[in-house]
Amino acid sequence: MMKDNTSLMSGTDSLRPSDFIRSIITEDIKAKKYEGRVHTRFPPEPNGYLHIGHAKSICLNFGIAAEFGGLCNLRFDDTNPTKEEVEYVESIKEDVRWLGFDWDDRMFFASDYFDRLHSYAVQLIRDGRAYVCDLSPREIREYRGTLTEPGKDSPYRNRSVEENLDLFERMRAGEFADGCRTLRAKIDMKSGNLNMRDPVIYRILHATHHRTGDKWCIYPMYDFAHCFSDSLEKITHSICTLEFEDHRPLYDWFLDTLGVYHPRQIEFARLNLSYTVLSKRKLIELVAQKHVTGWDDPRMPTISGLRRRGYTPESIRNFCERIGVAKRDSIVDMALLEFCIREDLNKRAPRVMAVLNPLRVVIDNYPEDLVEEVEAVNNPEDSGMGTRKVPFSRIIYIEREDFREDPPKQFFRLAPGREVRLRYAYFIKCVGVVKDEKTGEVTELHCTYDPQTRGGDAHDGRKVKATLHWVSAAHAIEAELRLYNLLFTEADPVSVEEGGDFISSLNPESLVTLRSCRVEPCLANAAGGSFYQFERQGYFCVDPDSSGGSMVFNRTVTLRDTWAKVEKKQNK
Ligand code: ATP
Ligand code: MG
Repeated sequence: MMKDNTSLMSGTDSLRPSDFIRSIITEDIKAKKYEGRVHTRFPPEPNGYLHIGHAKSICLNFGIAAEFGGLCNLRFDDTNPTKEEVEYVESIKEDVRWLGFDWDDRMFFASDYFDRLHSYAVQLIRDGRAYVCDLSPREIREYRGTLTEPGKDSPYRNRSVEENLDLFERMRAGEFADGCRTLRAKIDMKSGNLNMRDPVIYRILHATHHRTGDKWCIYPMYDFAHCFSDSLEKITHSICTLEFEDHRPLYDWFLDTLGVYHPRQIEFARLNLSYTVLSKRKLIELVAQKHVTGWDDPRMPTISGLRRRGYTPESIRNFCERIGVAKRDSIVDMALLEFCIREDLNKRAPRVMAVLNPLRVVIDNYPEDLVEEVEAVNNPEDSGMGTRKVPFSRIIYIEREDFREDPPKQFFRLAPGREVRLRYAYFIKCVGVVKDEKTGEVTELHCTYDPQTRGGDAHDGRKVKATLHWVSAAHAIEAELRLYNLLFTEADPVSVEEGGDFISSLNPESLVTLRSCRVEPCLANAAGGSFYQFERQGYFCVDPDSSGGSMVFNRTVTLRDTWAKVEKKQNK
Protein backbone atom coordinates (compact mmCIF):
# COMPACT_ATOMS: atom_id res chain seq x y z
CA MET A 1 0.00 0.00 0.00
CA MET A 2 2.84 2.39 0.80
CA LYS A 3 4.45 3.80 -2.25
CA ASP A 4 7.78 5.44 -2.81
CA ASN A 5 7.58 9.13 -2.30
CA THR A 6 7.71 10.85 -5.61
CA SER A 7 9.23 14.26 -5.34
CA LEU A 8 7.34 17.09 -6.97
CA MET A 9 8.70 17.62 -10.41
CA SER A 10 9.03 20.95 -12.07
CA GLY A 11 9.81 21.87 -15.62
CA THR A 12 9.59 19.40 -18.46
CA ASP A 13 13.24 18.33 -18.51
CA SER A 14 13.00 16.50 -15.19
CA LEU A 15 9.84 14.58 -16.09
CA ARG A 16 9.92 11.18 -14.48
CA PRO A 17 6.74 9.20 -14.98
CA SER A 18 5.81 7.90 -11.55
CA ASP A 19 2.49 6.24 -12.26
CA PHE A 20 0.56 5.03 -15.29
CA ILE A 21 -1.30 8.33 -15.77
CA ARG A 22 1.88 10.37 -15.73
CA SER A 23 3.41 7.85 -18.14
CA ILE A 24 0.53 8.28 -20.57
CA ILE A 25 0.81 12.05 -20.37
CA THR A 26 4.56 11.95 -20.83
CA GLU A 27 4.07 9.82 -23.97
CA ASP A 28 1.40 12.18 -25.29
CA ILE A 29 3.70 15.15 -24.80
CA LYS A 30 6.51 13.34 -26.62
CA ALA A 31 4.13 12.51 -29.46
CA LYS A 32 3.08 16.17 -29.61
CA LYS A 33 -0.52 15.18 -29.05
CA TYR A 34 -2.56 18.25 -28.12
CA GLU A 35 0.45 20.37 -29.19
CA GLY A 36 2.20 19.12 -26.06
CA ARG A 37 -0.34 20.84 -23.81
CA VAL A 38 -1.58 19.41 -20.51
CA HIS A 39 -4.96 20.63 -19.35
CA THR A 40 -6.92 18.73 -16.70
CA ARG A 41 -10.06 19.48 -14.71
CA PHE A 42 -11.60 18.61 -11.39
CA PRO A 43 -15.33 18.12 -12.03
CA PRO A 44 -17.33 17.79 -8.79
CA GLU A 45 -21.07 17.54 -8.79
CA PRO A 46 -22.28 20.12 -6.24
CA ASN A 47 -24.52 17.66 -4.43
CA GLY A 48 -22.54 17.30 -1.21
CA TYR A 49 -19.33 18.29 0.50
CA LEU A 50 -15.98 17.03 -0.74
CA HIS A 51 -14.38 14.08 0.99
CA ILE A 52 -10.89 12.61 1.19
CA GLY A 53 -11.55 10.63 -2.02
CA HIS A 54 -12.10 13.91 -3.83
CA ALA A 55 -8.84 15.14 -2.33
CA LYS A 56 -7.12 12.31 -4.19
CA SER A 57 -8.69 13.48 -7.43
CA ILE A 58 -7.89 17.14 -6.71
CA CYS A 59 -4.25 16.38 -5.91
CA LEU A 60 -4.01 14.28 -9.04
CA ASN A 61 -5.58 16.77 -11.45
CA PHE A 62 -4.11 19.96 -10.04
CA GLY A 63 -0.85 18.18 -9.22
CA ILE A 64 -0.37 16.85 -12.75
CA ALA A 65 -1.17 20.24 -14.25
CA ALA A 66 1.47 21.87 -12.04
CA GLU A 67 4.11 19.22 -12.69
CA PHE A 68 3.70 19.38 -16.46
CA GLY A 69 3.42 23.15 -16.66
CA GLY A 70 -0.25 22.89 -17.60
CA LEU A 71 -3.60 24.08 -16.31
CA CYS A 72 -6.41 22.60 -14.27
CA ASN A 73 -10.00 23.84 -14.33
CA LEU A 74 -12.54 23.67 -11.57
CA ARG A 75 -15.79 22.62 -13.18
CA PHE A 76 -19.09 22.03 -11.47
CA ASP A 77 -21.03 19.23 -13.07
CA ASP A 78 -24.37 20.79 -12.27
CA THR A 79 -26.73 18.89 -14.58
CA ASN A 80 -29.09 17.67 -11.86
CA PRO A 81 -31.08 20.63 -10.51
CA THR A 82 -32.93 18.60 -7.90
CA LYS A 83 -29.92 17.63 -5.82
CA GLU A 84 -27.62 20.58 -6.19
CA GLU A 85 -27.25 23.57 -3.97
CA VAL A 86 -25.31 26.80 -3.79
CA GLU A 87 -24.06 25.83 -0.33
CA TYR A 88 -22.24 22.89 -1.88
CA VAL A 89 -20.64 25.05 -4.57
CA GLU A 90 -19.27 27.42 -1.94
CA SER A 91 -17.99 24.62 0.27
CA ILE A 92 -16.25 22.95 -2.67
CA LYS A 93 -14.46 26.18 -3.61
CA GLU A 94 -13.36 26.68 -0.03
CA ASP A 95 -12.09 23.11 0.28
CA VAL A 96 -10.11 23.12 -2.98
CA ARG A 97 -8.49 26.42 -2.01
CA TRP A 98 -7.76 25.21 1.49
CA LEU A 99 -6.03 22.15 0.06
CA GLY A 100 -3.68 24.60 -1.63
CA PHE A 101 -4.87 24.63 -5.23
CA ASP A 102 -5.90 27.50 -7.46
CA TRP A 103 -8.04 27.49 -10.58
CA ASP A 104 -7.28 31.18 -11.29
CA ASP A 105 -10.09 32.40 -13.54
CA ARG A 106 -10.99 28.92 -14.74
CA MET A 107 -14.09 28.11 -12.75
CA PHE A 108 -16.81 26.71 -14.99
CA PHE A 109 -20.22 25.15 -14.69
CA ALA A 110 -21.68 22.54 -17.00
CA SER A 111 -24.75 24.77 -16.90
CA ASP A 112 -22.66 27.45 -18.67
CA TYR A 113 -22.85 25.12 -21.66
CA PHE A 114 -26.57 24.33 -21.66
CA ASP A 115 -27.13 26.32 -24.86
CA ARG A 116 -24.20 24.63 -26.59
CA LEU A 117 -25.25 21.20 -25.36
CA HIS A 118 -28.74 21.82 -26.66
CA SER A 119 -27.41 22.65 -30.11
CA TYR A 120 -25.21 19.54 -30.06
CA ALA A 121 -28.34 17.52 -29.33
CA VAL A 122 -30.22 19.19 -32.17
CA GLN A 123 -27.27 18.41 -34.45
CA LEU A 124 -27.41 14.74 -33.47
CA ILE A 125 -31.12 14.67 -34.33
CA ARG A 126 -30.45 16.32 -37.71
CA ASP A 127 -27.76 13.73 -38.39
CA GLY A 128 -30.21 10.94 -37.60
CA ARG A 129 -28.18 9.97 -34.52
CA ALA A 130 -30.74 10.81 -31.84
CA TYR A 131 -34.49 10.41 -31.40
CA VAL A 132 -37.27 11.35 -29.05
CA CYS A 133 -38.55 8.29 -27.21
CA ASP A 134 -41.93 8.02 -25.49
CA LEU A 135 -41.08 4.98 -23.38
CA SER A 136 -41.37 5.51 -19.63
CA PRO A 137 -38.22 5.18 -17.50
CA ARG A 138 -39.41 1.70 -16.47
CA GLU A 139 -39.98 0.64 -20.06
CA ILE A 140 -36.60 1.99 -21.09
CA ARG A 141 -35.04 -0.23 -18.45
CA GLU A 142 -37.01 -3.25 -19.69
CA TYR A 143 -36.05 -2.65 -23.32
CA ARG A 144 -32.40 -2.21 -22.39
CA GLY A 145 -31.79 -5.93 -21.80
CA THR A 146 -29.09 -7.24 -19.50
CA LEU A 147 -25.42 -8.12 -19.60
CA THR A 148 -26.37 -11.50 -21.09
CA GLU A 149 -29.36 -10.49 -23.20
CA PRO A 150 -29.41 -7.94 -26.00
CA GLY A 151 -31.78 -4.97 -25.79
CA LYS A 152 -34.84 -4.33 -27.96
CA ASP A 153 -35.27 -1.35 -30.23
CA SER A 154 -37.68 1.29 -28.98
CA PRO A 155 -40.83 1.55 -31.11
CA TYR A 156 -40.00 5.27 -31.45
CA ARG A 157 -36.51 4.66 -32.77
CA ASN A 158 -37.34 5.34 -36.40
CA ARG A 159 -39.17 8.63 -36.11
CA SER A 160 -38.35 11.08 -38.85
CA VAL A 161 -35.83 13.86 -38.28
CA GLU A 162 -38.66 16.40 -38.61
CA GLU A 163 -40.81 14.71 -36.02
CA ASN A 164 -37.84 14.40 -33.64
CA LEU A 165 -36.93 18.06 -34.07
CA ASP A 166 -40.53 19.07 -33.42
CA LEU A 167 -40.92 16.86 -30.35
CA PHE A 168 -37.57 17.86 -28.89
CA GLU A 169 -38.48 21.52 -29.32
CA ARG A 170 -41.79 20.91 -27.58
CA MET A 171 -39.96 19.08 -24.77
CA ARG A 172 -37.81 22.16 -24.37
CA ALA A 173 -40.82 24.46 -24.47
CA GLY A 174 -42.36 22.66 -21.51
CA GLU A 175 -45.27 20.94 -23.25
CA PHE A 176 -44.71 17.57 -21.57
CA ALA A 177 -44.62 16.32 -18.01
CA ASP A 178 -41.51 14.97 -16.28
CA GLY A 179 -40.49 11.51 -17.40
CA CYS A 180 -42.91 11.07 -20.28
CA ARG A 181 -40.36 11.61 -23.05
CA THR A 182 -36.57 11.52 -23.44
CA LEU A 183 -34.07 12.25 -26.13
CA ARG A 184 -31.90 9.22 -26.80
CA ALA A 185 -28.77 8.59 -28.81
CA LYS A 186 -29.32 6.10 -31.61
CA ILE A 187 -26.41 3.75 -31.22
CA ASP A 188 -26.89 0.00 -30.83
CA MET A 189 -29.42 -1.86 -28.69
CA LYS A 190 -27.40 -5.06 -29.15
CA SER A 191 -24.09 -3.62 -27.97
CA GLY A 192 -22.23 -5.68 -25.40
CA ASN A 193 -21.81 -2.43 -23.49
CA LEU A 194 -25.08 -1.40 -21.83
CA ASN A 195 -24.04 2.24 -21.95
CA MET A 196 -24.17 2.07 -25.73
CA ARG A 197 -27.78 0.81 -25.89
CA ASP A 198 -29.37 4.08 -26.96
CA PRO A 199 -28.53 6.01 -23.80
CA VAL A 200 -30.76 8.87 -22.70
CA ILE A 201 -29.14 12.22 -23.40
CA TYR A 202 -31.90 14.61 -22.32
CA ARG A 203 -34.71 14.19 -19.82
CA ILE A 204 -37.63 16.38 -18.86
CA LEU A 205 -37.34 17.87 -15.39
CA HIS A 206 -39.48 20.82 -14.38
CA ALA A 207 -37.12 22.02 -11.68
CA THR A 208 -35.45 25.31 -10.87
CA HIS A 209 -31.71 25.21 -11.42
CA HIS A 210 -29.39 26.99 -8.98
CA ARG A 211 -27.86 28.98 -11.84
CA THR A 212 -30.16 28.90 -14.85
CA GLY A 213 -33.36 29.28 -12.85
CA ASP A 214 -36.43 28.25 -14.84
CA LYS A 215 -34.89 28.73 -18.26
CA TRP A 216 -34.75 24.98 -18.85
CA CYS A 217 -37.13 22.13 -18.18
CA ILE A 218 -34.99 19.60 -20.03
CA TYR A 219 -31.58 18.69 -18.65
CA PRO A 220 -28.68 16.83 -20.29
CA MET A 221 -27.53 13.57 -18.72
CA TYR A 222 -24.10 13.38 -17.13
CA ASP A 223 -22.42 11.39 -19.95
CA PHE A 224 -23.58 13.84 -22.57
CA ALA A 225 -22.70 16.97 -20.61
CA HIS A 226 -19.37 15.70 -19.39
CA CYS A 227 -17.62 14.88 -22.63
CA PHE A 228 -18.73 18.11 -24.32
CA SER A 229 -17.75 20.19 -21.27
CA ASP A 230 -14.28 18.62 -21.50
CA SER A 231 -14.23 19.28 -25.23
CA LEU A 232 -15.35 22.92 -24.98
CA GLU A 233 -12.71 23.60 -22.33
CA LYS A 234 -10.02 22.00 -24.51
CA ILE A 235 -9.13 19.55 -21.77
CA THR A 236 -6.34 17.22 -22.86
CA HIS A 237 -6.60 14.46 -20.25
CA SER A 238 -9.95 13.77 -18.64
CA ILE A 239 -9.04 11.81 -15.54
CA CYS A 240 -11.87 10.00 -13.80
CA THR A 241 -12.54 7.01 -11.59
CA LEU A 242 -12.80 3.40 -12.76
CA GLU A 243 -16.57 3.17 -12.84
CA PHE A 244 -16.41 5.36 -15.95
CA GLU A 245 -14.27 2.90 -17.87
CA ASP A 246 -17.44 1.38 -19.38
CA HIS A 247 -18.64 4.85 -20.29
CA ARG A 248 -15.53 5.66 -22.30
CA PRO A 249 -16.90 4.23 -25.59
CA LEU A 250 -19.87 6.55 -25.17
CA TYR A 251 -17.62 9.50 -24.31
CA ASP A 252 -15.73 8.79 -27.53
CA TRP A 253 -18.90 8.19 -29.56
CA PHE A 254 -20.45 11.55 -28.72
CA LEU A 255 -17.30 13.49 -29.55
CA ASP A 256 -16.50 11.54 -32.73
CA THR A 257 -20.07 11.57 -34.00
CA LEU A 258 -20.17 15.33 -33.79
CA GLY A 259 -16.55 15.63 -34.90
CA VAL A 260 -15.48 18.00 -32.15
CA TYR A 261 -12.25 18.37 -30.18
CA HIS A 262 -11.58 15.09 -28.40
CA PRO A 263 -9.83 14.83 -25.00
CA ARG A 264 -8.49 11.52 -23.76
CA GLN A 265 -10.30 9.87 -20.88
CA ILE A 266 -8.13 7.98 -18.38
CA GLU A 267 -9.54 6.04 -15.45
CA PHE A 268 -7.93 5.32 -12.07
CA ALA A 269 -9.06 3.49 -8.92
CA ARG A 270 -11.05 5.54 -6.46
CA LEU A 271 -9.86 5.86 -2.91
CA ASN A 272 -11.51 3.62 -0.34
CA LEU A 273 -10.55 4.16 3.26
CA SER A 274 -11.06 1.65 6.05
CA TYR A 275 -13.54 2.34 8.87
CA THR A 276 -15.38 5.02 6.94
CA VAL A 277 -17.64 5.58 3.95
CA LEU A 278 -16.78 7.73 0.95
CA SER A 279 -20.00 7.99 -0.94
CA LYS A 280 -21.88 11.23 -0.90
CA ARG A 281 -25.18 9.42 -0.67
CA LYS A 282 -24.07 7.75 2.56
CA LEU A 283 -22.46 10.87 3.93
CA ILE A 284 -25.68 12.80 3.27
CA GLU A 285 -27.52 10.11 5.21
CA LEU A 286 -25.19 10.52 8.20
CA VAL A 287 -25.83 14.28 8.18
CA ALA A 288 -29.56 14.15 7.49
CA GLN A 289 -30.24 11.53 10.16
CA LYS A 290 -28.06 13.46 12.61
CA HIS A 291 -25.66 10.63 13.30
CA VAL A 292 -23.06 13.40 13.12
CA THR A 293 -23.40 17.10 13.86
CA GLY A 294 -22.94 18.20 10.26
CA TRP A 295 -20.76 17.93 7.18
CA ASP A 296 -17.86 19.33 9.17
CA ASP A 297 -18.25 16.99 12.12
CA PRO A 298 -14.64 16.04 12.94
CA ARG A 299 -15.53 12.35 12.56
CA MET A 300 -16.54 12.82 8.93
CA PRO A 301 -14.10 11.92 6.13
CA THR A 302 -15.04 15.20 4.46
CA ILE A 303 -12.39 17.83 3.83
CA SER A 304 -14.28 20.20 6.13
CA GLY A 305 -14.51 17.51 8.82
CA LEU A 306 -10.82 16.73 8.57
CA ARG A 307 -10.02 20.45 8.72
CA ARG A 308 -12.07 20.89 11.88
CA ARG A 309 -10.50 17.75 13.28
CA GLY A 310 -7.08 19.41 12.90
CA TYR A 311 -5.75 17.86 9.71
CA THR A 312 -3.49 20.18 7.75
CA PRO A 313 -3.57 20.59 3.95
CA GLU A 314 0.05 19.42 3.90
CA SER A 315 -0.84 16.15 5.63
CA ILE A 316 -3.67 15.43 3.21
CA ARG A 317 -1.56 16.23 0.15
CA ASN A 318 1.15 14.03 1.53
CA PHE A 319 -1.32 11.21 2.09
CA CYS A 320 -2.53 11.50 -1.51
CA GLU A 321 1.02 11.37 -2.76
CA ARG A 322 1.79 8.30 -0.67
CA ILE A 323 -1.22 6.28 -1.81
CA GLY A 324 -0.43 7.00 -5.45
CA VAL A 325 -2.76 6.05 -8.28
CA ALA A 326 -3.49 2.60 -9.57
CA LYS A 327 -5.78 0.77 -11.96
CA ARG A 328 -7.15 -1.61 -9.38
CA ASP A 329 -9.51 -0.89 -6.45
CA SER A 330 -8.15 -1.35 -2.95
CA ILE A 331 -8.83 -0.16 0.57
CA VAL A 332 -6.29 2.15 2.17
CA ASP A 333 -5.81 1.78 5.90
CA MET A 334 -7.04 4.69 8.00
CA ALA A 335 -3.80 4.27 9.95
CA LEU A 336 -1.92 5.69 6.97
CA LEU A 337 -3.96 8.90 7.06
CA GLU A 338 -3.29 9.15 10.78
CA PHE A 339 0.39 8.52 10.20
CA CYS A 340 0.49 11.47 7.78
CA ILE A 341 -1.02 13.96 10.20
CA ARG A 342 1.19 12.77 13.08
CA GLU A 343 4.24 13.16 10.92
CA ASP A 344 3.29 16.74 10.01
CA LEU A 345 2.19 17.86 13.47
CA ASN A 346 5.21 16.29 15.11
CA LYS A 347 7.33 18.84 13.28
CA ARG A 348 5.07 21.80 13.82
CA ALA A 349 2.82 21.51 16.83
CA PRO A 350 3.85 23.30 20.04
CA ARG A 351 3.90 20.97 23.05
CA VAL A 352 1.81 21.85 26.07
CA MET A 353 0.55 19.98 29.11
CA ALA A 354 -3.10 19.09 29.52
CA VAL A 355 -4.67 16.75 32.03
CA LEU A 356 -7.66 14.86 30.68
CA ASN A 357 -8.86 13.17 33.87
CA PRO A 358 -7.50 15.28 36.71
CA LEU A 359 -6.36 13.80 40.01
CA ARG A 360 -5.51 16.37 42.68
CA VAL A 361 -2.04 16.16 44.16
CA VAL A 362 -0.97 18.15 47.24
CA ILE A 363 2.77 18.56 47.64
CA ASP A 364 2.95 18.67 51.41
CA ASN A 365 6.43 20.16 51.75
CA TYR A 366 6.02 22.82 49.06
CA PRO A 367 5.46 26.36 50.46
CA GLU A 368 1.76 27.32 50.45
CA ASP A 369 2.06 30.67 48.73
CA LEU A 370 4.97 29.98 46.44
CA VAL A 371 4.53 29.99 42.66
CA GLU A 372 7.55 29.15 40.54
CA GLU A 373 7.83 29.31 36.81
CA VAL A 374 9.51 26.37 35.20
CA GLU A 375 10.87 26.56 31.70
CA ALA A 376 9.32 24.23 29.14
CA VAL A 377 10.48 23.40 25.64
CA ASN A 378 7.89 24.25 22.98
CA ASN A 379 9.02 21.66 20.47
CA PRO A 380 11.92 19.26 20.89
CA GLU A 381 11.86 18.74 17.10
CA ASP A 382 12.39 22.46 16.44
CA SER A 383 14.50 24.49 18.82
CA GLY A 384 13.47 27.60 16.88
CA MET A 385 10.08 27.39 18.54
CA GLY A 386 11.70 28.40 21.84
CA THR A 387 10.54 27.89 25.39
CA ARG A 388 7.76 29.10 27.67
CA LYS A 389 7.20 29.54 31.39
CA VAL A 390 4.76 27.22 33.13
CA PRO A 391 3.55 28.06 36.68
CA PHE A 392 4.15 25.44 39.36
CA SER A 393 2.60 25.47 42.84
CA ARG A 394 1.70 23.34 45.84
CA ILE A 395 -1.44 21.83 44.41
CA ILE A 396 -1.31 20.30 40.98
CA TYR A 397 -3.33 17.93 38.84
CA ILE A 398 -1.93 14.82 37.28
CA GLU A 399 -3.59 12.28 35.04
CA ARG A 400 -5.75 9.85 37.01
CA GLU A 401 -4.39 6.93 35.03
CA ASP A 402 -0.82 7.90 35.98
CA PHE A 403 -1.46 6.61 39.49
CA ARG A 404 -2.12 3.05 40.62
CA GLU A 405 -2.52 2.21 44.24
CA ASP A 406 -1.56 -1.35 43.49
CA PRO A 407 0.69 -1.04 40.44
CA PRO A 408 0.90 -4.03 38.11
CA LYS A 409 4.24 -5.23 36.83
CA GLN A 410 5.69 -2.86 34.25
CA PHE A 411 3.57 0.05 35.49
CA PHE A 412 6.31 2.53 36.29
CA ARG A 413 4.29 5.62 37.03
CA LEU A 414 3.19 6.98 40.38
CA ALA A 415 2.25 4.59 43.20
CA PRO A 416 2.44 4.72 47.00
CA GLY A 417 6.05 5.17 48.09
CA ARG A 418 7.26 5.61 44.54
CA GLU A 419 9.11 8.60 43.09
CA VAL A 420 8.50 10.00 39.61
CA ARG A 421 9.49 13.11 37.67
CA LEU A 422 7.10 15.96 36.94
CA ARG A 423 8.00 17.18 33.49
CA TYR A 424 10.22 20.32 33.65
CA ALA A 425 9.68 20.56 37.42
CA TYR A 426 10.65 18.26 40.30
CA PHE A 427 10.73 14.69 41.47
CA ILE A 428 7.77 13.89 43.68
CA LYS A 429 7.13 10.88 45.88
CA CYS A 430 3.71 9.62 46.87
CA VAL A 431 3.28 9.57 50.66
CA GLY A 432 -0.49 9.40 51.08
CA VAL A 433 -3.69 8.44 49.35
CA VAL A 434 -7.08 9.99 50.19
CA LYS A 435 -10.17 8.04 49.18
CA ASP A 436 -13.87 8.60 49.08
CA GLU A 437 -15.22 6.69 52.07
CA LYS A 438 -18.23 5.40 50.23
CA THR A 439 -16.92 4.59 46.78
CA GLY A 440 -13.32 3.88 47.56
CA GLU A 441 -12.31 6.14 44.70
CA VAL A 442 -8.99 7.90 45.06
CA THR A 443 -9.76 11.62 45.41
CA GLU A 444 -6.40 13.11 46.29
CA LEU A 445 -2.76 12.21 46.63
CA HIS A 446 -0.22 13.59 49.02
CA CYS A 447 3.35 13.83 47.85
CA THR A 448 6.62 15.35 48.86
CA TYR A 449 8.99 16.98 46.44
CA ASP A 450 12.76 17.16 46.36
CA PRO A 451 13.82 20.82 45.89
CA GLN A 452 17.17 19.60 44.59
CA THR A 453 15.59 18.14 41.48
CA ARG A 454 14.32 21.36 39.90
CA GLY A 455 14.34 21.12 36.11
CA GLY A 456 13.82 17.40 36.33
CA ASP A 457 17.17 15.89 37.27
CA ALA A 458 18.52 14.73 40.60
CA HIS A 459 21.93 16.15 41.51
CA ASP A 460 22.87 12.83 43.11
CA GLY A 461 22.18 11.11 39.83
CA ARG A 462 19.30 8.94 41.09
CA LYS A 463 16.85 7.84 38.44
CA VAL A 464 13.11 7.59 38.16
CA LYS A 465 11.30 5.48 35.64
CA ALA A 466 8.46 7.80 34.68
CA THR A 467 7.88 11.41 33.75
CA LEU A 468 4.37 12.74 34.21
CA HIS A 469 2.66 15.78 32.79
CA TRP A 470 0.79 18.06 35.18
CA VAL A 471 -0.80 21.47 35.57
CA SER A 472 -0.93 23.82 38.52
CA ALA A 473 -4.42 23.68 40.02
CA ALA A 474 -4.63 27.40 40.71
CA HIS A 475 -3.43 28.40 37.25
CA ALA A 476 -4.79 25.78 34.88
CA ILE A 477 -7.91 26.52 32.89
CA GLU A 478 -10.80 24.17 32.55
CA ALA A 479 -11.49 22.92 29.04
CA GLU A 480 -13.72 20.55 27.13
CA LEU A 481 -11.89 17.90 25.18
CA ARG A 482 -13.56 15.94 22.41
CA LEU A 483 -11.90 12.62 21.82
CA TYR A 484 -12.69 11.11 18.46
CA ASN A 485 -12.48 7.47 17.60
CA LEU A 486 -13.26 5.63 14.39
CA LEU A 487 -16.74 6.42 13.10
CA PHE A 488 -17.44 2.78 12.27
CA THR A 489 -16.60 -0.43 14.06
CA GLU A 490 -16.26 -2.32 10.76
CA ALA A 491 -13.28 -1.87 8.45
CA ASP A 492 -15.65 -1.97 5.51
CA PRO A 493 -18.99 -0.63 6.79
CA VAL A 494 -20.61 -0.94 3.39
CA SER A 495 -20.01 -4.68 3.14
CA VAL A 496 -22.21 -5.11 6.21
CA GLU A 497 -24.99 -3.52 4.27
CA GLU A 498 -26.36 -6.72 2.74
CA GLY A 499 -29.41 -7.42 4.80
CA GLY A 500 -28.38 -4.77 7.30
CA ASP A 501 -27.47 -1.20 7.09
CA PHE A 502 -24.10 0.57 7.24
CA ILE A 503 -25.62 2.74 9.98
CA SER A 504 -25.68 -0.32 12.24
CA SER A 505 -21.90 -0.42 12.31
CA LEU A 506 -21.56 3.14 13.59
CA ASN A 507 -19.21 3.23 16.56
CA PRO A 508 -21.17 4.33 19.66
CA GLU A 509 -17.88 5.63 21.07
CA SER A 510 -16.85 7.65 18.04
CA LEU A 511 -17.04 10.75 20.23
CA VAL A 512 -16.12 10.83 23.91
CA THR A 513 -16.49 14.25 25.50
CA LEU A 514 -14.48 15.14 28.61
CA ARG A 515 -15.75 18.30 30.25
CA SER A 516 -13.48 19.04 33.19
CA CYS A 517 -10.04 18.72 31.73
CA ARG A 518 -7.33 21.10 32.88
CA VAL A 519 -4.92 22.70 30.44
CA GLU A 520 -1.94 25.02 30.76
CA PRO A 521 -2.89 28.69 31.20
CA CYS A 522 -1.13 29.64 27.95
CA LEU A 523 -4.06 28.05 26.07
CA ALA A 524 -6.61 30.47 27.52
CA ASN A 525 -6.88 32.47 24.33
CA ALA A 526 -5.61 30.06 21.72
CA ALA A 527 -6.93 30.98 18.29
CA GLY A 528 -9.49 28.83 16.49
CA GLY A 529 -7.83 26.10 14.45
CA SER A 530 -4.45 26.32 16.17
CA PHE A 531 -2.93 22.96 16.95
CA TYR A 532 -0.91 21.54 19.83
CA GLN A 533 0.55 18.37 21.06
CA PHE A 534 -0.86 17.68 24.50
CA GLU A 535 2.14 15.84 25.88
CA ARG A 536 1.65 12.09 26.12
CA GLN A 537 -1.98 12.42 24.94
CA GLY A 538 -2.09 13.33 21.31
CA TYR A 539 -2.51 16.21 18.93
CA PHE A 540 -5.37 18.58 19.59
CA CYS A 541 -6.73 21.66 17.88
CA VAL A 542 -8.99 24.48 19.00
CA ASP A 543 -12.59 23.89 17.95
CA PRO A 544 -14.67 26.82 16.69
CA ASP A 545 -17.15 26.09 19.50
CA SER A 546 -14.63 27.72 21.85
CA SER A 547 -15.75 31.10 23.10
CA GLY A 548 -14.51 33.71 25.51
CA GLY A 549 -12.39 31.68 27.87
CA SER A 550 -14.36 28.46 27.57
CA MET A 551 -12.11 26.38 25.42
CA VAL A 552 -12.99 23.32 23.37
CA PHE A 553 -10.30 21.13 21.85
CA ASN A 554 -10.63 18.34 19.30
CA ARG A 555 -8.32 15.39 19.42
CA THR A 556 -6.90 15.16 15.93
CA VAL A 557 -5.02 11.94 16.51
CA THR A 558 -3.49 10.08 19.43
CA LEU A 559 0.21 9.56 19.94
CA ARG A 560 1.24 5.97 19.72
CA ASP A 561 0.53 4.64 23.15
CA THR A 562 3.10 2.06 24.19
CA TRP A 563 1.46 1.37 27.51
CA ALA A 564 -1.84 0.43 25.91
CA LYS A 565 0.08 -2.12 23.86
CA VAL A 566 1.84 -3.57 26.87
CA GLU A 567 -1.42 -3.83 28.79
CA LYS A 568 -3.11 -5.49 25.85
CA LYS A 569 -0.35 -8.10 25.69
CA GLN A 570 -0.58 -8.72 29.42
CA ASN A 571 -4.32 -9.24 29.20
CA LYS A 572 -3.93 -11.88 26.56
P1 ATP B 1 -19.47 9.90 -4.62
O1 ATP B 1 -19.33 8.51 -5.13
O2 ATP B 1 -18.83 10.14 -3.31
O3 ATP B 1 -20.86 10.40 -4.68
P2 ATP B 1 -18.89 11.16 -7.08
O4 ATP B 1 -17.94 10.46 -7.95
O5 ATP B 1 -20.32 11.13 -7.43
O6 ATP B 1 -18.60 10.76 -5.59
P3 ATP B 1 -18.25 13.75 -7.99
O7 ATP B 1 -18.60 15.05 -7.38
O8 ATP B 1 -18.90 13.37 -9.28
O9 ATP B 1 -18.50 12.65 -6.90
O10 ATP B 1 -16.68 13.61 -8.11
C1 ATP B 1 -15.82 14.59 -8.60
C2 ATP B 1 -14.54 13.94 -8.99
O11 ATP B 1 -13.95 13.31 -7.87
C3 ATP B 1 -14.77 12.88 -10.03
O12 ATP B 1 -13.79 13.00 -11.04
C4 ATP B 1 -14.66 11.60 -9.27
O13 ATP B 1 -14.19 10.57 -10.10
C5 ATP B 1 -13.66 11.96 -8.17
N1 ATP B 1 -13.86 11.13 -6.99
C6 ATP B 1 -15.01 10.94 -6.30
N2 ATP B 1 -14.85 10.05 -5.31
C7 ATP B 1 -13.56 9.65 -5.37
C8 ATP B 1 -12.76 8.72 -4.62
N3 ATP B 1 -13.25 8.03 -3.60
N4 ATP B 1 -11.46 8.58 -4.97
C9 ATP B 1 -10.95 9.27 -5.99
N5 ATP B 1 -11.63 10.15 -6.73
C10 ATP B 1 -12.92 10.34 -6.44
MG1 MG C 1 -20.57 11.72 -9.63
